[in-house]
Amino acid sequence: EVRVRFAPSPTGNLHVGGARTALFNYLFARSKRGKFVLRIEDTDLERSTKESEDALLRDLSWLGLEWDEGPGVGGEYGPYRQSERNSLYKQYAEKLLDLGHVYRCFCSNEELEKMKEIAKLKQLPPVYTGKWATATEDEVQGELAKGTPYTYRFRVPKEGKLKINDIIRGEVSWGLDTLGDFVIMRSNGQPVYNFCVTIDDATMAISHVIRAEEHLPNTLRQALIYEALGFSMPNFAHVSLILATDRSKLSKRHGATSVGQFREMGYLPQAMVNYLALLGWGDGTENEFFSLQQLVEKFSIDRVNKSGAVFDLTKLRWMNGQHLRSLPPEELIKLLGDRWKTAGILTQAEGTFVMEAVELLKDGIDLITDADQALSNLLSYPLYATLASPEGKTVLEDKLSEVASSLLAAYDSGELKVALEEGHAGWQKWVKGFGKSLKRKGKGLFMPLRVLLTGKLHGPDMGASVILLHKAGTCGVIPPQVQ
Ligand code: GLU
Repeated sequence: EVRVRFAPSPTGNLHVGGARTALFNYLFARSKRGKFVLRIEDTDLERSTKESEDALLRDLSWLGLEWDEGPGVGGEYGPYRQSERNSLYKQYAEKLLDLGHVYRCFCSNEELEKMKEIAKLKQLPPVYTGKWATATEDEVQGELAKGTPYTYRFRVPKEGKLKINDIIRGEVSWGLDTLGDFVIMRSNGQPVYNFCVTIDDATMAISHVIRAEEHLPNTLRQALIYEALGFSMPNFAHVSLILATDRSKLSKRHGATSVGQFREMGYLPQAMVNYLALLGWGDGTENEFFSLQQLVEKFSIDRVNKSGAVFDLTKLRWMNGQHLRSLPPEELIKLLGDRWKTAGILTQAEGTFVMEAVELLKDGIDLITDADQALSNLLSYPLYATLASPEGKTVLEDKLSEVASSLLAAYDSGELKVALEEGHAGWQKWVKGFGKSLKRKGKGLFMPLRVLLTGKLHGPDMGASVILLHKAGTCGVIPPQVQ
């Protein structure tokens, strides 16, 4: 059975790299009808917080990556927080001690520092060279009797190679001579990270470890522990780094990197998931547009790329626009209507007004938050700014006043209002007659009309805009700022 896990440390926000790792695990599990486990790696008690864990769970749920086992849902391999699994680690540490793969090391910090210094002077790797690897039972008992603090140190073979077959990277091998005996449990009884991960993956029956490339070096220590305990090794797949457009590792200095930030900026979970999947994966066709369900159907770990993937915000933004526009209309209307109400742009989200505003504006927006700007822009009337621009001047000089006086007459007589109330057809008919009476058409008619009616030189469909402006003024959704 395929069982994978996402194992975040609750020490900060879920950023795009972590989210992509979670996504690949999720897709792999779903595509293989296996299980997706969420494990909280909170061994670093000082840096782990409950808030951070809550935020992680919230962000994963927002992305739609529901886990089958883990915090909140339980499961038969729990508990799913490392801080609640200490007795298990202790039990396996004792087992390793009994088997002779681990020994007690009574070296003080000063001694260890000295060892490092000597190694440095001799230009040797900083491996453990203390006496406790070969101490006699009597020496050990002597220190125990004195109450000297000790760590549990793993006995690494002094020569040979260890290799794994990584699904993404192929064969990876390490020489053992430079590793040195490493600590698996500190003198305060606190197990060390690499040890916990191994025990957890083994006892949670994880079949595939899909994680970030930066954990590849940890695999060596973990593999040694698997072997020592006679556990069968999971399959490993180390996913490449996410790079910024300058090809350096994506980090905070490149702007928003956490899922929460993107949510606040108005990104949709569908778009995030789609874009994250493309960071290192593709279905082999030109198609880049996938729903989560389609990703589950198409995903294959063999197609995950070995080279770093570039995180391109412009593309994510574009993709968000595509997803936004492909939402079912009612959903988009609800989303933007609620948004406009909370943002205070609309006093009441009147049904047909919102519907028409969404229809008119949706092509010009990529993010939900863009919609705020688009609607306030439509409802505002910055004629001054328009006339102050060179293009505006040209329109003004082109007998703007002639069009203006006729327009005023059409407004005063009620003719324009009647036409607007008839909707698009009414507008079409009116504008045609209006142009005829002025002997104007094309740009010479539409530019001055647009400036007079909307205050702007450019914008979405003029008829629909004016109909909406008229509606805004009469239905009291929000009075245009000029009134
Ligand atoms: N807790 C590790 C992290 O947050 C993940 C380790 C792993 O996947 O093995 O980076």
